[in-house]
Amino acid sequence: MGGILAIAEQRDGKIRGVSREVVTAAVSLTGELGGDAHVLVIGGEGLSGSAGDLGRFGATRIRVAEQASLEDFNPHAYAPIIAEEVKSGGYDVVLFGATAQGKDLAPRVAALIDVPLAADVTGLEATGGELVATRPVYSGKAFAKVTFDAAPAMVSIRPNVFQTAESEGSADVEAFAPEVDAGAGGYRLVEFQGVGGGAKDVAEAGTVVSGGRGMKGPENWGLLEDLREALGTDTALGASRAAVDAGWRPHGEQVGQTGKTVAPKLYFAVGISGAIQHLAGMRTSGTIVAVNKDPDAPIFASADYGIVGDLFEVVPKLTEEIRALKAGD
Ligand code: FAD
Repeated sequence: MGGILAIAEQRDGKIRGVSREVVTAAVSLTGELGGDAHVLVIGGEGLSGSAGDLGRFGATRIRVAEQASLEDFNPHAYAPIIAEEVKSGGYDVVLFGATAQGKDLAPRVAALIDVPLAADVTGLEATGGELVATRPVYSGKAFAKVTFDAAPAMVSIRPNVFQTAESEGSADVEAFAPEVDAGAGGYRLVEFQGVGGGAKDVAEAGTVVSGGRGMKGPENWGLLEDLREALGTDTALGASRAAVDAGWRPHGEQVGQTGKTVAPKLYFAVGISGAIQHLAGMRTSGTIVAVNKDPDAPIFASADYGIVGDLFEVVPKLTEEIRALKAGD
């Protein structure tokens, strides 16, 4: 049958923003590869209502595996449902978001179907009917282009890299209740600890304000909070490992090789030197702004805009300017 299957994500019954990017990427491939873009989303009862919204991004069919026991993410229960859907639908390509869930699920599904996976992809092209995926390698120092020698091609795409686009048409929404072992793998979600105060997760926000050792201590993070507030609700706080290891910030905010990989449209590195392990987690960001008092700090080599100065003077001024600009909107 062919076509592309986009795996959407939900949490607490709400479709997560990355799903729109995954669906748009799937739809954009149909032009060259043919077939339609379909969506599969797994979750608890009543999910069909919110899932239908993904039709706005050009998918023609949305399949919703809904069942009370599937409300909480369980990779052992979710992976066989996806594998079954992929096999019965005869898809050419399956796309996941390279989120915490997608990074857990995609390799399991690829192993169940016994096909290769290109993970954390930052570019997709279909030329002459062949899919070519671009992946950062060596901590983002180089990019590899890979093709697939088995079908379906399994791909997870890095959040925030692919643009979303709405298109004409609407999707059929089909809910179904799969055969499922809810306790599969002996896995049970005990507690979900989100980012406090309804704030955005650093890996999902469109803008990230990160602080490093140059912040001198946790008591100074109010400066970055103010900047985040001025920039708007799609902004999250991040941190270097030095700030996290010092106990100034939670590990969930760490950006880098042993933290999260982020690719926001706008990234602020404040008092961060730009060690290779930090760059590994943020160098694919759209625009990078660095504030550092050392003109030779390595971060400036990766920054689009560099401000050499004392962050305790620069950041409040930046915040003030951004507030003034927004007030004039
Ligand atoms: P520093 O390197 O100490 O830099 C502080 C910067 O602040 C300096 O450039 C200084 O000029 C500037 N500064 C100081 N005061 C001011 C001021 N008043 N105004 C303006 N600027 C000021 N690091 C990560 O970030 N993420 C990771 O995931 C990660 N994983 C790692 C994995 C491994 C295996 C290893 C070995 C290391 C890893 N690291 C990681 C650590 C990394 O090597 C660096 O040590 C770390 O990134 C440094 O953090 P920093 O830039 O905040 O601190």
